[in-house]
Amino acid sequence: MKTMKIAIQGKGRLNQASLGFLRDEGLSFNIQDTLVLRCEDRPIDLLCVRDDDIPQYVACGAADYGIVGENVLLEKGSSSKILKRLEFGQCSIVIAVPNESSIKIINDLEGARIATSYPEILKRFLQNEGINAAIITIQGSVEVAPSLNLADAVCDITQTGNTLKENGLIPLITILESQAVLISSSRNTFEL
Ligand code: ATP
Ligand code: ZN
Repeated sequence: MKTMKIAIQGKGRLNQASLGFLRDEGLSFNIQDTLVLRCEDRPIDLLCVRDDDIPQYVACGAADYGIVGENVLLEKGSSSKILKRLEFGQCSIVIAVPNESSIKIINDLEGARIATSYPEILKRFLQNEGINAAIITIQGSVEVAPSLNLADAVCDITQTGNTLKENGLIPLITILESQAVLISSSRNTFEL
């Protein structure tokens, strides 16, 4: 019998809630610190991977289902089908500027340098708005980029806004509202 494969984030903010969702669907797993977890009573494997890799696992059919933030799905440009919004992992991607910045409205971003870990989502937003700005892609600590003079603004992920505030940044605009979603591979022949 073929084994169904489900890709979830192995470590991080979505891990526990993803396992909780699957448990509510009747799937129980013997939790261990391994890449692959076998379901206790059905031929189902959990692939516990980096969230950034989940869209690719599902797109190529290495996983039949995946649970991932919409932010990651959109950033990777995946065409996988969203089956369900899961009501956890809520967060927003916002453009924010230093309190004392001369950038007050989105058109003031023209010519600015914007640091982000979400270059594709930001690029799409700027194109839609007809704004030319330099996208500075960095992998982490985006919120400190303005104070280090790496950028004039940030495009960052936030849940409460506290990290932005602590770094003297105020949100200018929310460009994406995100939550965890269940996605399915176009090659998937299983039913969850
Ligand atoms: P990985 O090691 O798997 O690459 P990561 O560090 O990229 O992990 P996490 O910080 O664990 O990712 O976040 C996973 C997802 O949780 C995000 O992509 C997003 O969808 C969601 N999320 C919810 N709230 C927040 C937040 N405040 N900051 C970052 N991500 C959040
Ligand atoms: Zn990640």
